[in-house]
Amino acid sequence: MIAKLIPAGGNMNLSVPEQMPINESMSLVQTLVNIVPKNPVLSLVNGNILQIIFFAIALGLATNFIGKKGEPLVKIMSALAEAMYKLTDMIIRFAPYGVFAIMAWVSGEYGFAVLKPLIKVIAGVYLACLIHVVVFMGGAVTIIAKLKPFNFFRGITDAQMVAFTTTSSSGTLPVTMECAQKNLGVSNSVSSFVLPLGATINMDGTALYQGVCAIFVANAYGVDLTFAHYLTIIFTATLASIGTAGVPGAGLIMLSLILNSVGLPMEGLAFIAGIDRVLDMARTTVNVTGDSLVSLLIAKSEDELDEKIYNKENEI
Ligand code: ASP
Repeated sequence: MIAKLIPAGGNMNLSVPEQMPINESMSLVQTLVNIVPKNPVLSLVNGNILQIIFFAIALGLATNFIGKKGEPLVKIMSALAEAMYKLTDMIIRFAPYGVFAIMAWVSGEYGFAVLKPLIKVIAGVYLACLIHVVVFMGGAVTIIAKLKPFNFFRGITDAQMVAFTTTSSSGTLPVTMECAQKNLGVSNSVSSFVLPLGATINMDGTALYQGVCAIFVANAYGVDLTFAHYLTIIFTATLASIGTAGVPGAGLIMLSLILNSVGLPMEGLAFIAGIDRVLDMARTTVNVTGDSLVSLLIAKSEDELDEKIYNKENEI
């Protein structure tokens, strides 16, 4: 919504590369039905992201259900995931040179005017993050946990600061654990289960950022998105964020999946790459805040919250 209100990229008038036809608009039902692959191998070959994610989740669940028999597959998949993380890391090391070159080319070709809309993207992502944290997370603390939201935000300030500066949820995990236990009063058993899990799969800030960026790229290339496209972006961003590693820049790599899912030009990634660090600071902070919130809500519902610690007024 924020990305629509601040029409970032709206006057960039970049042309869509010819080889990249924008996906035809589909009805809601069609979009949902199309998520289920008829042939998962074909989905991989065609790069149909939603179908690939759907199949991966289904396969993961089935592997889990067969217990011991599934263990060899789990080992292979874990090794493959580690290798992919490494590969991503190796590619990311080249990113600064690539980003420098593309930004130099873009400003040389189109002039500085093309860089201005990027300021709007930064404003859009920061504004959306702020609303998400203050309104929705603060609201959840007040309405669901029936606790004072101020104490929650005060208690996790250290974790938020570390997340903002390191741009890594995984790297921030020890501080998040300490804040949850010592400042919020979340029990050891809840925090040591919920927070590591959250740092791995709960990336609401990343999903939010991917939505704003996808709309920016669509605006920049003058692509009209339909309702089904928005729905696809929401689905893909939510699922892709679950698969995003809690390390710096991982969300940018996953953004390619979202652009691909609605047929937006990959060239749009280059613009985002130039400002990604600034965006990563905000989204990682939101991710860590979300993890802390979930640990608080679960601790409260399971009677595992020490409210004396949570409500203490003066010290943090
Ligand atoms: N840096 C983010 C995190 O660690 C992930 C991302 O790049 O979106 O939470």
